Amino acid sequence: MKILQNVMDQVKKRNPNEPEFHQAVEEVLESLEIVAEKHPEWVAAGVFERIVEPERQILFRVPWVDDSGKVQVNRGFRIQFNSAIGPYKGGLRLHPSVNASILKFLGFEQIFKNSLTGLPIGGGKGGSDFDPKGKSDGEVMRFCQSFMTELSKHIGADTDVPAGDIGTGAREIGYMYGQYKRLRNEFTGVLTGKGLTWGGSLARTEATGYGLCYFMDEALKAKGKSFKGATVVISGSGNVAIYATEKAAQLGAKVVALSDSNGYIYDPDGIKLDTVKQLKEIERKRISEYVKIHKNATYTEGCSGIWSIKCDIALPSATQNEIDEASAKLLVANGCYAVGEGANMPSTPEAVNVYLHNKIIYGPAKAANAGGVATSALEMCQNSMRYSWTFEEVDAKLKDIMVNIYKNASAAAKEYGFEDNLVAGANIAGFLKVANAMYSQGIAY
Ligand code: NDP
Repeated sequence: MKILQNVMDQVKKRNPNEPEFHQAVEEVLESLEIVAEKHPEWVAAGVFERIVEPERQILFRVPWVDDSGKVQVNRGFRIQFNSAIGPYKGGLRLHPSVNASILKFLGFEQIFKNSLTGLPIGGGKGGSDFDPKGKSDGEVMRFCQSFMTELSKHIGADTDVPAGDIGTGAREIGYMYGQYKRLRNEFTGVLTGKGLTWGGSLARTEATGYGLCYFMDEALKAKGKSFKGATVVISGSGNVAIYATEKAAQLGAKVVALSDSNGYIYDPDGIKLDTVKQLKEIERKRISEYVKIHKNATYTEGCSGIWSIKCDIALPSATQNEIDEASAKLLVANGCYAVGEGANMPSTPEAVNVYLHNKIIYGPAKAANAGGVATSALEMCQNSMRYSWTFEEVDAKLKDIMVNIYKNASAAAKEYGFEDNLVAGANIAGFLKVANAMYSQGIAY
């Protein structure tokens, strides 16, 4: 980097000890050097310095009372990163690993992802270091109510519209929405991922996983390949992984492995998704239980071994940095020819280099998993109209959006001299629209 090196240096200086945030910014700035060369007016207007600094960061105490009557204290965050093209939009992550670095990396990526959807949504992210795992429904409810009591002061249907993410599913969104409504006495589309009887959109639950497969299907087709007859490995067994499994199977693939944070299952006959949905969505059990029901399947402790399973297509859909250089090399050595990212930043920079070097068909998270937020924006749209579309209508719009993201990212890659590099293409296509809006809206002195 030449023009943008100063911007990167400043990010590191201003945000020490935030490796995930540095990683996400560095990847984007590397792709944007050529854009900076072509747009000196954006450099002069400080667009690059401004886009790496969140517009607002909210940090707050979340006290709640557990089932034994003990007071617990967690930390709540909302990073309102960029509102140049619409209200801040991005999920709420509830996981013990949550900290400022992780939420800033996610909020930063969200700016470009949301822009790529073609819909008017800015970038944000939030959450807490609260762990819903092992908590009773009552404890989760009290936490969510306390969390929303503070968050409600900063969000709104035209200001900032949070959604689910790791640890925040339909149950948590329900408790948070109930508390928002109680505090504000208004029924608005302030959260997405809502239940279907109170403002939710059909196909939102399926959207990220389905969208990932629609995107990859397009990328595969461009190289004369398809899901039909392919063997697929998917990490995670949460919302994204489950619906990626469903759509990949509908498109003719055999999904043979899934995981959770303890280990992975391998079923050579193909994963039986009904069992996984029962275990994970209804009973909230561990994925290891699967092998008690399907005797041909095996369970292995530890997560990273899943990438040693021979496959044609890998869809990492659990968490950040889950594929390192060694795992990427193993995938390639075993004949894997495509990687589509359901999770956010699941591949380390070294792993991405392995994909690019080996001409793997690589769908980066910003583009490949944008179906979730796109359908959230469709939920906002339906809420504003006080109307709802059918499953088929939403699914058709989602498919259209994913095909367009592929086309725009691959066209931008070609135009800027990075042919077939969808990382650079997605970063550039997402950035151009936001940069243009920031430039047009001026600087507040
Ligand atoms: P869920 O909470 O539904 O599922 C997460 C899955 O990943 C679980 O199987 C979980 O296992 C596993 N997991 C979580 N943390 C780790 C870890 N540190 N190591 C190994 N496995 C882990 O979340 P989602 O499916 O919603 O999200 C998965 C990924 O997709 C995240 O990166 C998220 O940001 C991204 N994403 C989600 C979208 C959505 O619409 N939901 C939209 C776009 C991106 P366990 O149960 O053991 O914790």
